[in-house]
Amino acid sequence: MEKNQINTLKTLLSTPKKIVIIPHKNPDGDAIGSCLGLYHYLKQYGHKLSIVAPNDYPDFLKWMPGEDNILKYEYQTETATRKIKEAEIIFTLDFNSLSRIDDVATVLESFEGDYVMIDHHQAPDGYARFTYSDTSMSSTCEMVYNFIAFMGDTDKISKEIATCLYTGIMTDTGSFRFPSTTSATHRIAAELIDKGAENTQIHNAIFDSNSVEKLHLLGCALKNLVELPDYHTVYIALSKEELEQFNYKKGDTEGFVNYGLSLKGVIFAVIFIESAQDDIIKISLRSKGDFSVNEFARKHFNGGGHINAAGGRSEFSLEETTQRFEQLVKEYKDQLS
Ligand code: 5GP
Ligand code: MN
Repeated sequence: MEKNQINTLKTLLSTPKKIVIIPHKNPDGDAIGSCLGLYHYLKQYGHKLSIVAPNDYPDFLKWMPGEDNILKYEYQTETATRKIKEAEIIFTLDFNSLSRIDDVATVLESFEGDYVMIDHHQAPDGYARFTYSDTSMSSTCEMVYNFIAFMGDTDKISKEIATCLYTGIMTDTGSFRFPSTTSATHRIAAELIDKGAENTQIHNAIFDSNSVEKLHLLGCALKNLVELPDYHTVYIALSKEELEQFNYKKGDTEGFVNYGLSLKGVIFAVIFIESAQDDIIKISLRSKGDFSVNEFARKHFNGGGHINAAGGRSEFSLEETTQRFEQLVKEYKDQLS
């Protein structure tokens, strides 16, 4: 973030404001963690704060400190709309295009205050007066830590802030293993532990809260795995009938796509999930090395994200989508060999 932007923002935030913080739709650990970390930090300045999530999120995120303050636009539409209409400043966290927040974007059309964007995805839109965008960052939580540091306030990092930020860094780095994990990421994580983040407990709360049904669904997904050995690619498809059979709940398929990448030699793994709710196929894409799933998702599946992790969607049927995918992959033979 530029020095003069930091100074202007510092002045703006030095008196109490009405602030709304917004994560992307289907928020993950980094989205919720960064919103809550920022929320606990800004609270210390006496601001009137709300967090408005476009929709609900998995139960394994619902233990986080302050989580019960988050308004879910899909359920609390009226209150959330009022908070946005009253807001003077809106922070948008862990996304960079208003298309990522669905209906909330419509409410924002009448917003005339200042946007602050903090985000680490590719190709940011230009809607924010204050933009802190850095695609080299492991997570938005790491950036919120930096943001607090830019404000000269690391001594204000409480156990609550540390817990929320540690959670998002941990989830977005795949527990500190993805290439976006730098020595700076580890230093910040270490500092957050010193400030009270209980790393083992946080890891357990996120990853060791599985149900038997979820593990059975994982079994089904792994059985469905298709190899495209000529392209070092694998994919998994899950139909809505299969999801129903294993009593699918939001978040149950989180991380499944990574099993594909654990296969020796595989550099491109995709999961296609038929959503009964939205009548679309949700797609998660992961890669290793230089193959950009961000570009692939942007070009073919109306999505985007990072070089090695992206999401997208398809309006075709599950079978049509996987067939189309098999055809598309052939065009990338050079990059995938
Ligand atoms: P996931 O596969 O876990 O849903 O998402 C992987 C990454 O891609 C995340 O950083 C997520 O924010 C991003 N992402 C997921 N879906 C979309 C999408 O539809 N559009 C864009 N631009 N990014 C997405
Ligand atoms: Mn993120």
